[in-house]
Amino acid sequence: MSEVLINNVLEELGFRYDPNSVYQQTINSVLHAAALLELPHHLQLILAQPKNEIMVHFPVKMDSGRYRLFKGYRVQHNNLLGPFKGGIRYHASVNLDEIKALAAIMTMKCSLLRLPLGGAKGGVQVDPRSISQDELMRLTRRFTTALGDNIGPDYDIPAPDLGTNAQTMAWMADTYMMMSMPSHSARGQSVVTGKPLEFGGSVGRDKATGQGLVFVLEEILPELGLKLETISISLIGFGNVGSWTGRLLCQRGAKLRAVLDHTGAIRSDSGIDAAALTAHVEKTGGVTGFPGADAINEDDFYRTKVDVFIPAALEQMVDLERAKIMDCKVVAEAANAPTTPPGERHLQDRGIPVLPAVLCNAGGVTVSYFEWKQNRQAETWDAETVDAQLKKHMFAAAARVKLAKHRFDCDMRTAAYVAALESIGRVYRLRGIFP
Ligand code: GLU
Repeated sequence: MSEVLINNVLEELGFRYDPNSVYQQTINSVLHAAALLELPHHLQLILAQPKNEIMVHFPVKMDSGRYRLFKGYRVQHNNLLGPFKGGIRYHASVNLDEIKALAAIMTMKCSLLRLPLGGAKGGVQVDPRSISQDELMRLTRRFTTALGDNIGPDYDIPAPDLGTNAQTMAWMADTYMMMSMPSHSARGQSVVTGKPLEFGGSVGRDKATGQGLVFVLEEILPELGLKLETISISLIGFGNVGSWTGRLLCQRGAKLRAVLDHTGAIRSDSGIDAAALTAHVEKTGGVTGFPGADAINEDDFYRTKVDVFIPAALEQMVDLERAKIMDCKVVAEAANAPTTPPGERHLQDRGIPVLPAVLCNAGGVTVSYFEWKQNRQAETWDAETVDAQLKKHMFAAAARVKLAKHRFDCDMRTAAYVAALESIGRVYRLRGIFP
């Protein structure tokens, strides 16, 4: 990890050092890997800025009859390897810096997995829990309309992320299809992935991010002297990614010791039943009050001794203060950018490796790619095919990261970016820069 405050490429582009900018943190790590790889300076410049930053403001009629104006984003970081790809998140704290960082991470993720896709991310500044389903539908349709031709099945393909789900994608796809010429309308379905099964979705997409993480751990843990079947884990976040990761790991024999979410924290030394907790969260909206565990405070959650600590919620939750009290053997980033650079440095100094998001949570976009491919080929794969293909992709990506780590004697995050940048560098060399 680079100690320089601001990378010379960012400085050349006019960035002012901001330690709290997730974008600068992300690009700093990417550029550190690019320097190790000796990627040409002009490619470092290109990758240090997104290609397009789209910002829209749009009104929505609320149930009360009043109008609210919302702010939405779509940042398209890079489409060298294929159409832009990445999720849409609904959260009150959505902002441009965050969406830019997440878009850049998507470019790296797709490249590391060798998917024929680029990187993008979008979002709307809204707390989806605070508005009704009808309001959510109108907001989604109006946002999709505002994005217009900036998305499309061959150009930019959104997917679910924090605060959005298969229903959100169904509304997006329907709106896009309604706005298309009737003769193109049927193809319009593949404008988004993560759709409901009945409407062009893929089997296995819902659990894909969690399943991908399980495959990564299967491949990486033995090197760290751990076995998937006997590990203990803790989770930040129990939404789609957290709950699937918890359930799938518990099915393999792991013990879920503690969970923290927006409602509070719980712990059970004999193990939390992840399936029962999923049902509780579906009913009540959070982990608090789960009868199968004790309520604890946030600090005690971070202090809970586990083998694998899994942040599966928002960015920046593992900062220096938390890293100092964490008691784990490895951190596996199921969320995007959950670890701050000072937090990561401290964990590294303590000999705790951080398995980066770009590898750990790439299962989601990988099955999104399978869905897109099925839509375009008018095919339906079965669950075994999806699982087998996902395993193959995740194992190959983990192997690439391990190889880069040994070759450059670096941390796992740098290694993952090196492995991603290798293929981006090769394709830029072949294509050249227009004109
Ligand atoms: N939102 C997910 C991610 O951050 C999935 C993106 C996709 O499927 O395109 O990787």
